[in-house]
Amino acid sequence: MPLIESEEHKALREAVASFARNHPRTTTGTDIRRFWQEAAKLGYIGVNLPEAYGGGGGGITELSLVLEEMGAAGNPLLMMIVSPAICGTVISRFGTEAQKREWLPALADGSRLMAFGITEPDAGSNSHRITTTARRDGGDWLLTGRKVFVSGVDIADATLIVGRTEDARTGKLKPCLFIVPRDTEGFQRRPIDMELTSVEKQFELVLDDVRLPADALVGGGPSHAYGSGGEDAGLLQLFAGLNPERIMTAAFAIGMGRHALARAVEYARERTVWKVPIGAHQAIAHPLAQAHIELETARLMMQKAAHLCDAGDDIGAGEAANMAKYAAGEACVKAVDQAVHTLGGNGLTREYGLASLITAARVSRIAPVSREMILNYVSHQTLGLPKSY
Ligand SMILES: Cc1cc2nc3c(=O)[nH]c(=O)nc-3n(C[C@H](O)[C@H](O)[C@H](O)COP(=O)(O)OP(=O)(O)OC[C@H]3O[C@@H](n4cnc5c(N)ncnc54)[C@H](O)[C@@H]3O)c2cc1C
Repeated sequence: MPLIESEEHKALREAVASFARNHPRTTTGTDIRRFWQEAAKLGYIGVNLPEAYGGGGGGITELSLVLEEMGAAGNPLLMMIVSPAICGTVISRFGTEAQKREWLPALADGSRLMAFGITEPDAGSNSHRITTTARRDGGDWLLTGRKVFVSGVDIADATLIVGRTEDARTGKLKPCLFIVPRDTEGFQRRPIDMELTSVEKQFELVLDDVRLPADALVGGGPSHAYGSGGEDAGLLQLFAGLNPERIMTAAFAIGMGRHALARAVEYARERTVWKVPIGAHQAIAHPLAQAHIELETARLMMQKAAHLCDAGDDIGAGEAANMAKYAAGEACVKAVDQAVHTLGGNGLTREYGLASLITAARVSRIAPVSREMILNYVSHQTLGLPKSY
């Protein structure tokens, strides 16, 4: 893995930065769709998807770079974590030929978006406890359950729902993933009143015997050869989406942290209340320098994780993606906090737009997997320490 970014990646970074900087800030769902489609036209949204299905043929390395630069320009697209990264990866790797043809070109050209729903009210961080259940009814599936905090369901054409179904041989419940179009009967959504300034809304979902055709199951059913799709591959499908999700959340956090830091540095260079700009005081300069170092360090781990993920090393990428998400979330929270502080009273004004990032930055500490669950993972998986739960 080259530690120094290639000329090609530098050029992509600059092009995305200039595009995102010059685009008006997105404030409504319609704005997002427009921004999304323009970004897609330039090849940014589908950069990780296979060329054979209209994508750029790159990987999570390039997609995370795109999201980071959009965030650094103050114009992040949260749904990039979900639509091309999770859903696009799962469908590219495990979808049937028909699912790939139906979804991948549309996800790549921006004409369609897909949300991802796994979190449940009674399961939270413990995804082994999810109870959304799929049962067969003739050739169809009936899906019943509840989800919370699912982002962008209103602007997405479908949601990839993680459920469970009974294994015909063992009777045990195993994960299975379904593509549920937005307007399917019985698929209800209610926006959650979040104290979060974000254009993408979060939803509670209720699925009440939602009838889905057999081909809504990712990979098709019934069971195929192990790993090639169908009911048996749900766990592998789920794992395939997790690393991209964590790496992209790291990119989201690093972008936001860089954006806040840049605003603070700009302000600290100009603002003078004694004889010199406030940035000359080490009490202001050092925490900003520290924030920069922590964001850069987190980016290195993110790049390592993306490289492993693109090389197909899912296990190696798992550890690195968790550590990158942790480091980026922490660096983002600290950078935003210090940025707000640097601006004094102005840090809390709407004009400077930094205070709302205090809440937004916390998202990368909580989702898609909390800081504590990553510390648990590293304690158990990396350090071999015993489990408390
Ligand atoms: C803005 C936003 C967008 C989101 N978008 C999506 C989405 O698109 N799709 C989706 O499916 N989900 C989404 N989520 C949900 C997100 O993934 C969950 O919030 C996250 O997984 C944590 O689950 P929880 O909120 O139920 O917290 P809980 O699991 O209830 O955890 C609460 C606290 O307890 C701690 N904790 C729990 N268990 C342990 C333990 N064993 N050891 C130590 N500490 C522990 C956690 O670290 C946390 O601090 C989103 C959330 C937010 C905030």
